[in-house]
Amino acid sequence: MKSIIFIAPPAAGKGTQSKMIEEKYHLPHISTGDLLRNAIKGNSPIDLKIKELMESGSLIPDDIVLELLHERLMNDDCKNGYILDGFPRNVSQADAYEAMLENMKLDHGVVIYLDVPKELCKKRILGRKSCPKCGAIYNDLIAGMESKVENVCDKCGSNLTVRSDDNEQTFETRYQAYLDNTLPLLDYYKKHGNLYRVDSTDATKTFKTIVEVLERGISHD
Ligand code: AMP
Repeated sequence: MKSIIFIAPPAAGKGTQSKMIEEKYHLPHISTGDLLRNAIKGNSPIDLKIKELMESGSLIPDDIVLELLHERLMNDDCKNGYILDGFPRNVSQADAYEAMLENMKLDHGVVIYLDVPKELCKKRILGRKSCPKCGAIYNDLIAGMESKVENVCDKCGSNLTVRSDDNEQTFETRYQAYLDNTLPLLDYYKKHGNLYRVDSTDATKTFKTIVEVLERGISHD
């Protein structure tokens, strides 16, 4: 199995799809948002600056993200592929990633664009809850995605949490950052010829389509 990159607006379902792919293909799920959240548990000035940027929905400087990602990709579990969730977020990160792949002799893999209307992304953000222990994701505003017991993880029984940046104001900033910085990556990867568009309005159908892309290279463009 090859590595997978997701290009998607905030709350398009990359976290949910990544978890499903991780379970089916046993590929590690690498979320740069999670790498950042784990790296800033202290109170140093840099930790506080990153926290402030994340709370506001702005992008973190490339060098910080690239260093964390590089360190993670050095782990043995990445040798046979991995799922990148939230990276690259702009063309300069994509360029740096190309150089990293070449250095580390890793495969380019496939790029999946999750296409979903802005209003649905907003609903997903405002209803999203996640499990801090196992990473499972739920949504109170989307039928079929609620946890069985309110605020309790179905998988491990932990209490669910709401991310502090999952609010309407931060959503607008994150969506604008997506339009300005991340959307140009579609042209970037179209030129590389490894981009697949997948309609991501329905999580179950989306996963079926992703499996078709991964196993048979079927394009839905
Ligand atoms: P996510 O968990 O992917 O929604 O990301 C949450 C926040 O982490 C974003 O709003 C950014 O502040 C930061 N972040 C995550 N990935 C990146 C990245 N590749 N480049 C810059 N900032 C990032």
